[in-house]
Amino acid sequence: MTGVSPYDEAARLAALRRLDVLDTAPEEQFEKIVGLVRAVLGVPIATVTLVDAHRQWFKAQHGMPVSETPRSTSFCTHTVAARAPLMIADATLDTRVCDSPLVVGEPFIRAYLGVPLMTPDGHAVGALCAIDTAPRTFTAAQIDVLAGFARLVVDELELRQVAVTDQLTGCLSRRGFLAAVDSEIERCRRYGRSASLAVLDVDHFKRVNDTFGHAAGDAVLRQLVQHCGTVLRPVDLVGRLGGEEFGILLPETGEDAATHAIERLRTSIAIAPFEIGAANPLSVTASFGLTRFVSGDRPDGWLERADGALYAAKRGGRDRVNVATDAPTPAAA
Ligand code: GH3
Ligand code: MG
Ligand code: MG
Repeated sequence: MTGVSPYDEAARLAALRRLDVLDTAPEEQFEKIVGLVRAVLGVPIATVTLVDAHRQWFKAQHGMPVSETPRSTSFCTHTVAARAPLMIADATLDTRVCDSPLVVGEPFIRAYLGVPLMTPDGHAVGALCAIDTAPRTFTAAQIDVLAGFARLVVDELELRQVAVTDQLTGCLSRRGFLAAVDSEIERCRRYGRSASLAVLDVDHFKRVNDTFGHAAGDAVLRQLVQHCGTVLRPVDLVGRLGGEEFGILLPETGEDAATHAIERLRTSIAIAPFEIGAANPLSVTASFGLTRFVSGDRPDGWLERADGALYAAKRGGRDRVNVATDAPTPAAA
């Protein structure tokens, strides 16, 4: 197959990167859509395919033997280049794809219908595909149905972007947490209320992954968030800032009360059993940076101060709470 040079490839790839979806775990909404495509169009294989620079990667798929293939042997790269639905009734007769390993080998693709996944800003980032192992055509009505499902896929990709819930742990996502910090700052400023902010980072978490595997690490993160929920008050908010770092927002809490609450959380984590499927549960510790709201604080500065305190806690030996000294922030800011 010859290479294709899709319209404005650099901008297209930038749009794909912004979706932040490549190499993520399966998600139910996309699994459902490929299931519906198979049932409604009566095909054995359906995929949500994203066309990366040198590969196509399946966000969801049913009936494909692999999770990605080189772009050079991909059908969808042609759909992306065309920016329009592409139907191939018999792949063995189509010079663009007849020598693809997916045609000459498993899963022996014969018929293909792909509709491009067009982002709102007009980039074709991939395709939704209905694939058969016997030659066939698709009617105009079936193409319309697949196009409708393709729009649903794009809606879901966009929704992932604004999601306020962290997929792994169920706590707030970074975006959701920062929004909460924003409104808490507004409340503190407007009504002169107090609040404190802590940043939690699991100690030596890399060792958990390296010793027990990534799935065990994931289990620890999920249990950690559950544990925070049982130890903190219902009004306190936990958000995943990234990796094994979490933000904790304590409304109506001055420095002393916050220090007590976070100390209690720290000690309770250190004695909690983390079940990772092994015979013995694991012990985990965490370090914390803590800081109260100071008049004039903006979200970034407030978080940076908590982060600075966290790194001092790490340097100080871990498994500890370090309280930041207040920054002299201009009150009018
Ligand atoms: P420190 O005490 O200095 O914080 O050491 P650390 O090992 O916790 O810190 P480091 O930043 O070196 O390692 C963090 C690790 O967290 C590396 C990364 O692979 C892992 N990680 C990040 N996100 C996830 C995730 O969602 N699941 C799992 N299992 N691991 C993750
Ligand atoms: Mg860590
Ligand atoms: Mg970290």
